[in-house]
Amino acid sequence: MNRVFTPFLFVFLLVFSKCSVKMENSNYQGNPDPMKQNAYIKLPLGSVKPEGWLKSQLEAQAAGLTGNIDDFWPDLVNSSWRGGDGEAWERGPYFLDGLVPLAYLLDDENLIKKVKDWIEPILASTSDTGWYGPSKNKDRWPLAVANKVLMQYYEASGDNRALDVLTKYFRYLHSTPPDWPDKDWRGVRAMENAVTGYWLFRQTREPWMLEVIESIRNNSSDWTSYYEKFPWDSAASADKRIPLNWGPDGLTAHVVNNAMAIKYPGLWYQQSGDERYKNAVFAGISKYDLNHGQVGGRFSGDEHLSGKSPDRGTELCAVVEYMYSLENLYEIFGDNALADRLELLTFNALPGTTTPDMWAHQYDQQSNQVLVTGDKREWSTNGNYSNIYGLMPNFACCLANMHQGWPKFVQSLWMATNDNGLVAVAYSPSIVKAKVGKGTEVTITEKTGYPFNGDIILTVNSKESVRFPLYLRIPGWADSVSINYKGRTITAEAGSTIKLNEKWSDGEQVIFELPMKIRIEKRFNNSLSVLRGPLCFSLRMEKEYRSVKINYDNFSYKGSVDWEIYPKSAWNYGLVINENNPERGIDIIENPVSRYPFADKGDMIWSADSGKYIFWEQDAAVVITTRGMKIPGWILKNNSADFPPVSPVKPEGTTEVIQLVPYGSAKLRITEFPVIDITQITDVMRPGK
Ligand SMILES: [Zn+2]
Repeated sequence: MNRVFTPFLFVFLLVFSKCSVKMENSNYQGNPDPMKQNAYIKLPLGSVKPEGWLKSQLEAQAAGLTGNIDDFWPDLVNSSWRGGDGEAWERGPYFLDGLVPLAYLLDDENLIKKVKDWIEPILASTSDTGWYGPSKNKDRWPLAVANKVLMQYYEASGDNRALDVLTKYFRYLHSTPPDWPDKDWRGVRAMENAVTGYWLFRQTREPWMLEVIESIRNNSSDWTSYYEKFPWDSAASADKRIPLNWGPDGLTAHVVNNAMAIKYPGLWYQQSGDERYKNAVFAGISKYDLNHGQVGGRFSGDEHLSGKSPDRGTELCAVVEYMYSLENLYEIFGDNALADRLELLTFNALPGTTTPDMWAHQYDQQSNQVLVTGDKREWSTNGNYSNIYGLMPNFACCLANMHQGWPKFVQSLWMATNDNGLVAVAYSPSIVKAKVGKGTEVTITEKTGYPFNGDIILTVNSKESVRFPLYLRIPGWADSVSINYKGRTITAEAGSTIKLNEKWSDGEQVIFELPMKIRIEKRFNNSLSVLRGPLCFSLRMEKEYRSVKINYDNFSYKGSVDWEIYPKSAWNYGLVINENNPERGIDIIENPVSRYPFADKGDMIWSADSGKYIFWEQDAAVVITTRGMKIPGWILKNNSADFPPVSPVKPEGTTEVIQLVPYGSAKLRITEFPVIDITQITDVMRPGK
């Protein structure tokens, strides 16, 4: 009997299990077979729009470098990608990778026209072989970036020519031998093509596209083994074994490559389904934290991996690429810790490394950044000017690549779920318009001052009542969140995802507050960092901005937007804090977020007293008042703050009131503080006693 029935049973079980396991969104295309289903599905560009302070931030970006740089930077003005005879490699595509989403998220007609002027020559460049782009470029690397540009452009515009160019290019890759040498960018970064490749497979379901990605994966740098072994650890750092070269081994220690590559095993997991690749991603992130981790979820690299001490730099390109990797990895795995880290990078490292008006940026940012000058530093491979806020400090890659950070974050605030619902991935003022249930279009308006405060109101609008699951990510630091909806209150635990599967009527609201208690985090040499919600806090210092004129191959804008910054008050404070009760003795001032409209479009060049930007230090959105004590022996070393002395530190002065402001607004800062041994503080050290 069994012999007869077993095959039928097997087939039945197979069909049944497939039906029950793979629930598919009927409004948005998830991963088709044979790919593994992702946790969530990215919404097409334009589905999520910024509101409130986030919109102001994007408007600042549009009025800053992103909206203007291609009018005066020769590499973009004459770019071969837009039909000129100049630069034909990565700079045009890098710039467009941020300009395209920025233009469509703001519905900015001028920027959309700019986009089209750039895109038309690219679409026209497609050839019979499938290769595209400037004829003088023979390298596959810039096309990996251009692919992402065309993908976004197609989503926003529906222009089928973009889909044709991409399909033809992947046919080219299918029909030509692999060319992904691990001594070149195109090989080390080859799996960047998989982002577009899988997207294209979802659109077309052409099975040969998976063969292309498998071939790329098999013939390019093996990042999975790298994350498993992680050769460039603390010991390698201490022994100066981290290779500071531009060959195959040095490229695996290169900070931007690392920030990009952390998603590669995860991308491949979608096709292989092998847990080994998922494990490699999470092992890699842990190893970055352990060996090169900096406050705020980033890791150092100036420009090769450079250890944990808070004087080390992180390149701007690595910040925006790590953000993009986390956005992709969250879609695949849905692990909330990935989104926690995405918020940390977005709200701290990203604004911390540009001026508030986004006219000047750093190449390298530091957690303890007390002098911003061209003086000699101990960067691993970067030049002396790497930490000034300028037009093109050190090298031009960041000037071209920085633009993707904010717009791609906006796109990732909400994603679709496999059961025809929506998930709030990260929080910020925004509005999402998407299809839910059996195809009903809804909008959800998110009103919030997050990350500066934790109050969030979601309002659902829909022409008809519609049942769909609304998921909320609860950050890992947010304990016992009370969520109010439909006259009910439920409590959510930190790190969880809450599912509200309801029939939602027009105007219904979900109201909750993410509790922003003061947290402390142990850092280098037992130092402490202070966090509140997703914001890190830094010492507020008096400072002097000095305009310096740097010659960048004879181009500049309105004279100069290069700033050196000098401290005008002491920075060598230890915290006088009770580690068991960090909120004790701390005062928090929240300024209403509504007072930061970006309206000063005429005044393009930032100065210390112009404009009101959300990440503007002079009028910071959140100010923490606490106590500190100067540590006389803690001084500069090689023009950076020396290692914080090992805590706890013996008190040698008097306690003083100090202020902390968001890292993103503090252009000079101490963020990893030594801690004063409070058991040794005597009465004479307390003022007024
Ligand atoms: Zn860069």
